[in-house]
Amino acid sequence: PKFVFVTGGVMSGLGKGITAASTGRLLENAGFDVTAVKIDPYLNVDAGTMNPYQHGEVYVLKDGGEVDLDLGNYERFLDADMTFDQNITTGKLYKNVIEKERAGDYLGKTVQIIPHITDDIKRRIRAAAAGHDVCLIEVGGTVGDIEGGPYYEAIRQFAHEERDEDVLLTHVTLVPYSKNGEQKTKPTQHSVKELRSIGLQPDVLVGRCEDELDADTKEKIALFCDVPTDAVFSNPDVEDIYHVPLVVEEEGLDEYVMDRLGLAADARPKAER
Ligand code: ADP
Repeated sequence: PKFVFVTGGVMSGLGKGITAASTGRLLENAGFDVTAVKIDPYLNVDAGTMNPYQHGEVYVLKDGGEVDLDLGNYERFLDADMTFDQNITTGKLYKNVIEKERAGDYLGKTVQIIPHITDDIKRRIRAAAAGHDVCLIEVGGTVGDIEGGPYYEAIRQFAHEERDEDVLLTHVTLVPYSKNGEQKTKPTQHSVKELRSIGLQPDVLVGRCEDELDADTKEKIALFCDVPTDAVFSNPDVEDIYHVPLVVEEEGLDEYVMDRLGLAADARPKAER
């Protein structure tokens, strides 16, 4: 399968989940079987014990899994049922690794975040992706968060282990306006710098902005973040989030992703989507 990782910069609540789900929807429209994994870097094993005021209503899956609302977005955008295994939390990882340690499964080794937690992250992603054409993996939170560290390291290793054409990293950031009405790229530059400092270079950048990104904003982001200009996309504010797939399709996000992952030749012709 192909793996599309989606990370977020600057701040959470930007629209990373919606961007990931929209990418998935467009790939489905092009005829691919798409699944998703949501990573929640908290120590709760699942969202079931969390106050709804913290993360919104608990979303209950068909298999009884109690998860974050984001999984509901994936179910609706991808028109597919998610399973509890498609939600990775730090609580689940540590619980599993510590139980294995107590059972003596590590045969006396020192149990560590690298490799034991990172291996478990990679194993869960590969298990969720098996049998599908594309797996989206959204990392909750923002690059630079202490909680997210092991996940970004696991992604770095994952990209190293897989072929280049099988892994794509989309980074979603905020492009704010300054008081004099200019689109500012500095927050994006800083968050990409943060990603690169942990060994990750984004392939695609999506700028969340009140409006579409101007051509020179895209060029500036491309130059400073070291991606082609046509790998920079806008995700402007819309009235209805179900319009986001259409907006990013208009920008050519689906075509770019399919080209980059070598899927274009197998895609259903545009006119039939
Ligand atoms: P994140 O995954 O970055 O935390 P979400 O994808 O959950 O963010 O989106 C956060 C909020 O922003 C949600 O309420 C969502 O409906 C809204 N949102 C996302 N994208 C857009 C958009 N393009 N226009 C308007 N609202 C959006």
